[in-house]
Amino acid sequence: MSSNKSIKMSEDEINRALAKAEKEAEKKDHKKIWMDKMMKSAKTYYKACPYYDKKTSKCFLDLSNKCNREGKYENCPVFLGFLDNKYQEFTSKKKILPLDFLDLAQSI
Ligand code: SF4
Repeated sequence: MSSNKSIKMSEDEINRALAKAEKEAEKKDHKKIWMDKMMKSAKTYYKACPYYDKKTSKCFLDLSNKCNREGKYENCPVFLGFLDNKYQEFTSKKKILPLDFLDLAQSI
């Protein structure tokens, strides 16, 4: 009987772990979809990265480093990190995520 119980418990644990993993995956998907949407939206407004200072090559999102991508922000880890942080910020405050990059940029 006690061994049955322990099996049952481990099943529950597995189910819980699976449910948690699914939820995490859903969250990840949601984040990715939103980040892709923001990237697409940004590209309709900006050919070069909006945080790139052409004169000094500085990156306004990471002032300690210069941009070595000449403002090409697609797949830029700094830019993606910025979107990732924004996603965390909005979702942790339970705020509605912007659907347009300009709304996001203004929320800094
Ligand atoms: S490092 Fe990335 S985010 Fe920063 S200016 Fe360059 S392209 Fe933009």
